[in-house]
Amino acid sequence: MKNLFEHTNAFWAKYAAYEWRVAADGKEYLLPTKDAEAAVYNIMKVADQLVLDAVNVGRLVMKKSPEKKIKDAIHRFACNYGLLGMMTALPTTPNFVEYEKVYLLKNQFIRQETMDTLAYMKLFFPFRMPDFHKRGIESIWNVSGEDRAEAALSMTFRNDPRAMAMSFMRNYGEPYEWLKEAFLDWAFTFMSTYLYYEDRDTADDNTLNLYRKSLACFEGNAPTYHLSLQEHPVIVWDFHSLMLAVKFLFSVKLTAEKNPMSLCEHCRMVFYAPRADSRFCSAECRNKASKKT
Ligand SMILES: [Zn+2]
Repeated sequence: MKNLFEHTNAFWAKYAAYEWRVAADGKEYLLPTKDAEAAVYNIMKVADQLVLDAVNVGRLVMKKSPEKKIKDAIHRFACNYGLLGMMTALPTTPNFVEYEKVYLLKNQFIRQETMDTLAYMKLFFPFRMPDFHKRGIESIWNVSGEDRAEAALSMTFRNDPRAMAMSFMRNYGEPYEWLKEAFLDWAFTFMSTYLYYEDRDTADDNTLNLYRKSLACFEGNAPTYHLSLQEHPVIVWDFHSLMLAVKFLFSVKLTAEKNPMSLCEHCRMVFYAPRADSRFCSAECRNKASKKT
């Protein structure tokens, strides 16, 4: 199999601008700005860069960079790729809005195993809830035509789970602390893998076991897919969240033999190594490192 991702699509939406806002609960959330335009893009077309950027945001958290630097990096990530879609990523089904209760996968953000569906949604709509009503298992969602971007996105994603389209609404936000955790998790998984092979011959058993254990904790839901007849037959991945897309593509990258992810010896950020012996992410880092010695 030459390239597993040759004819594959997966669509996600992003706004042109996002902003941090503090809600009544005192927490800070990242949301689209009031007038930002929305766009739909194909995740598979930017998969390599997406994975690299995600892990490198996490590296900043891991290196205990200043708060402002981390926030700017998360903000930039959202402007490039949109929010993570955590609301659909955490429950056992992306169709959770159709049920009275949401059942949660094991995760580091919410302790409870189940939550009332509306109470759960409220975690992601800290300023204003969508016009969404439930009576038992029946539900109605009204999208006002006033916001053209919202109306267009809800039409574009009308065949996807409703929660996914809802996570593209302008009042949908994700808390800073959770975003930080999610990115950190990816960087941590990368470092455990990277160091395992770097230190395999020198580290003691305890250390190596720790790396193995932290990899075993990284579990992803298998995404579903469907087929679509276009110029070629195409696999369309139903990730339903950018978070699951990153997890899945990151796992693919982590196990790839060609251009593996590596750590720059100078800036300690992650890059794709063009050769097995590549030590620096850029000529700039190579020069700076040689000047130091
Ligand atoms: Zn570097």
